Amino acid sequence: MRFRTGSKFFVPALMGCWLATGGSALAQKAVTASDDPIAKVLKKKKTTDIAGKAVTTVKPKPKVVDRGIPNEVPLPARKLFGYLQSPAPMKASSYGGYAKGCMSGAEEMPINGLAWQVMRLSRNRNWGHPVLIDYLKKLAVDVQQKDGWPGLLIGDISQPRGGPMLTGHKSHQLGLDADIWMRSMPSRRLTYKEREETAAPSMLSGKISISKTRFKPGNVKVLRRAASSPLVARIFVHPAIKKAVCEATNDDPKRESWLKKIRPWWGHHYHFHVRLKCPRGSRGCKNQRPVPKGDGCGKPINDWFAMMTRPPRKPAKPAVKPTKPRKPRKKRYLTLAKLPKSCRRVLSYGRHKNAMLFAKGVGENVTLPVRRPVN
Ligand SMILES: [Zn+2]
Repeated sequence: MRFRTGSKFFVPALMGCWLATGGSALAQKAVTASDDPIAKVLKKKKTTDIAGKAVTTVKPKPKVVDRGIPNEVPLPARKLFGYLQSPAPMKASSYGGYAKGCMSGAEEMPINGLAWQVMRLSRNRNWGHPVLIDYLKKLAVDVQQKDGWPGLLIGDISQPRGGPMLTGHKSHQLGLDADIWMRSMPSRRLTYKEREETAAPSMLSGKISISKTRFKPGNVKVLRRAASSPLVARIFVHPAIKKAVCEATNDDPKRESWLKKIRPWWGHHYHFHVRLKCPRGSRGCKNQRPVPKGDGCGKPINDWFAMMTRPPRKPAKPAVKPTKPRKPRKKRYLTLAKLPKSCRRVLSYGRHKNAMLFAKGVGENVTLPVRRPVN
């Protein structure tokens, strides 16, 4: 079904033509068929309606693109992508940047595997580019078999078609980012409820120091293995974790190649965030700049600590009362128009019912299907 954003204008225009030409069926047809000579004349000329008033017939501009999703859906793109429950069954590809893009042909990370379990199943964010899903499966098995780690708890990856999310995460839009818990996988299979409610323990004690009881040598081994893959662009961890990894690997002369990819960032104290480079064949996928040279230990990490421990600035002088009331700032959000063009196709592929409802502006009322419990 095609949806015309210009239909408000289209109906009165059609009525005007119908009356001016005596209401023949030909006239109705003439307006809709663009190559009809009568339509061409009507399009240009001013005609009169039954009361003798001038009526200008304006042909509405076609605003429909790519299988029915209007060009300018004013809704935030997160509302279009956030409710889709299935991937776009196309060739696997990532489009755009990590925080402004989408993905086609996503693969689902199985919720239970040989050496992993997926957490927070109700979010339906265990979808990724097949290259990422393969990477995660292999990493889980390798850390279990080669590093003696009990297995991985997998957090958020991406939505079935990537894109911006309704809550949390600015990135994770391309199916190339994955959060992995620092806590190891328990030996038994967790229930659906446990996967929803089990808290992810922080590796910090206090604000900036690492907990020696929770952050174990095994965590360093997992991070080293995760970062050593040539597929990986970056891994984000809390600065205190980066410092702990630096200290634990001081005697490794070859550590720069993988340690440089482990980047300190805010948050990330209960999980680490793996980001893969754009896979081959993903045209339109934008890589970030490569990480700078050096292992990132020493000065860079000390600068982070200096920033985190800096005393808060003195409160500014009380502001002078503004004479005019300020206009409330408009909330900025990503709309479909700001994402790569391919994302419109990804969104509408298969004419997804929910996407169409949202495109018509009635999506607020859609209730989400709840995912079935695993056990
Ligand atoms: Zn993340």
